[in-house]
Amino acid sequence: MEVHAVNPWVALAYLIAGVCFILALRGLSSPATSRKGNRYGMVGMAIAVVTTLATHDIASLPEILAAIAIGAVIGLTTARKIQMTQMPQLVAAFHSLVGLAAVLVGVAAYLNPDAFGILEPGGLDILKGSRIEMGLGVAIGAITFSGSVIAFAKLNGTMSGAPILLPARHAINLAALAAILVLVSLFHWDTPALFWAIVALSFAIGFLLIIPIGGADMPVVVSMLNSYSGWAAAAMGFTLHNTAMIITGALVGSSGAILSYIMCRAMNRSFFSVIAGGFGADAGAGGAGGTAREQRPWKRGSAEDAAFLMKEAENVIVIPGYGMAVAQAQHALREMTDLLKEHGVNVKFAIHPVAGRMPGHMNVLLAEASVPYDDVFELEDINSEFAQADVAFIIGANDVVNPSAKTEKSSPIYGMPVFDVEKAKTIFFIKRSMGGQGYAGVDNEVFYMDQTMMLLADAKKMVEEINKALTD
Ligand code: NDP
Repeated sequence: MEVHAVNPWVALAYLIAGVCFILALRGLSSPATSRKGNRYGMVGMAIAVVTTLATHDIASLPEILAAIAIGAVIGLTTARKIQMTQMPQLVAAFHSLVGLAAVLVGVAAYLNPDAFGILEPGGLDILKGSRIEMGLGVAIGAITFSGSVIAFAKLNGTMSGAPILLPARHAINLAALAAILVLVSLFHWDTPALFWAIVALSFAIGFLLIIPIGGADMPVVVSMLNSYSGWAAAAMGFTLHNTAMIITGALVGSSGAILSYIMCRAMNRSFFSVIAGGFGADAGAGGAGGTAREQRPWKRGSAEDAAFLMKEAENVIVIPGYGMAVAQAQHALREMTDLLKEHGVNVKFAIHPVAGRMPGHMNVLLAEASVPYDDVFELEDINSEFAQADVAFIIGANDVVNPSAKTEKSSPIYGMPVFDVEKAKTIFFIKRSMGGQGYAGVDNEVFYMDQTMMLLADAKKMVEEINKALTD
C-alpha cells in the first residue's frame, strides 16, 4: 500500500470529514437536531472512506465492495431485529468489534510494515517511532475487545451481573497495567515476543478489569469502553499516518470519556470507584435476586381513578422509565398527554439521565412518539417542581424515583440523584406487579406512601385504559 502522505487534497478531505464529525456530535447533543447530526456523521464518514480508498492501494475494488456489502447486510439485519431494550448489549458488542479491528490492524501492520507504508525509504526510525503508538493501539484495542465481550455477556444475561471479586484483584490489575506500559515503552526493540506479550496481557487485563464491575455500573462501563475504542483507533491512526483516523478516534475517545463522567455524576459514583469494581454485589444488580419485599399496606388504583384525578389536576409530571420501553407505551402516553392538555392540564415529562437502559433511552422513545421537545425536562431542571405538582405519573420507572437513594446508606443506589416524587400531592405508579423490581433490585418506599396509588398492569394497556376513561 502506497501512502500519498503530503497530498494537500487528501489532507483537505480528511479535514472536511473531521469538521463533519464535530458537527455530528454537536447535532447529537439535542433530540431536535440529532437527525441532522447523524447526516453530518454519514457524510463525514463517506468522505473519509472514499478518500482513503481513492488514495491507497489497499485491495481490489470488488474485494472492498464485497466486504462493505457483507458488513451492511449484517448491520441492517441486526438493526432491524434488535429490540430497543437490547441496545446496551448491542453497543457493547459493536465496541468489541472496534477493539478487535484495532488489534487486527496492529497485527497486520506489525507483520507487514512496508505494505502499510510505515516502512518508508530510510524509514526504520519511522517504524521504530510508530511502534509505541502501535503498541498502545493494540493494547487499548485488546482491552476494549475482551472488556466489551464481558460487558455484553453481563448485559445480555449470558453471565451473572454480579461482580466477580478475585482476591488481590487491585494488585493484579495494577501490576498487569504497569507491565503493559513497560512492554509498550520497550517496544522500539524489534522483538516479536514483546508484541505478542502486549497483545496477550491486554486481552487478559480487559477481562480482569470488567468482571469485578457489577451490573449496576454497566452503563458507565459501556460508555468507558466506547471511549477506549476511540483511543485505540486514534493510536492506530498515528501508526498508519492517517489523520482521519486520528481525528475520529480522538473525538470518540473524548466524547466517550465526557459521557462516562456525566453518567458517573448522574449516579453519584466516582469514576475510580466504578473502575475499581465491586458495586452492586449485594443488590443482585441487573434484576438478578434482590431484597425481600416488605409486607406493608399499599393502595391499588384504577385507570378511572387516574383519568379522573389527572383531568382535574393543574400540573402533571410524567416520569417514564425502563418499563415504558418494555411495554412500548410511548405512543399511548403521548395520546394521554394530548387528551390532558385538551382539558387544560399542564403536562411535563421528567427524564432521568440513567432512566431506561442506555443514555438518552427515554428521549429517543418520546421523540419517536412526537412528544414536543419543549415538554421534556432534565432532572435538575424539573426536580424543584414536584412540590407544586398535583400528580406525579410514574410509568415503568423505579430506581430513578426511589427515595432510598437519598436516605439509606446501605442501598446500592445510595447517592444517585432521584426525582422528589414524594413531594407531589398524588402519585400514580404503573408497574406490572408488586413483586417486580427495578434494575438495582431494591424495594421502593414510594409504593407504600399515603398519596400513592399503584396501577398494576402492563404500561401500554394501563395507559390505553386511562385514555379510554379520559375520552368517555
Ligand atoms: P428500573 O429498571 O429501575 O425499573 C423498571 C420498572 O419497570 C420496574 O418497576 C418494572 O416493574 C417495570 N416494568 C417492567 N416492564 C413493564 C411493563 N411492561 N409495564 C409496566 N411496567 C413495567 O427502571 P428506571 O428507568 O427507573 O431505572 C433505570 C435503572 O437501570 C437504573 O438503576 C440505572 O442505573 C440502570 N441502567 C441504566 C442504563 C442507562 O444507560 N440508562 C443502562 C443500564 C442500567 P415490574 O417488573 O413489576 O413491571
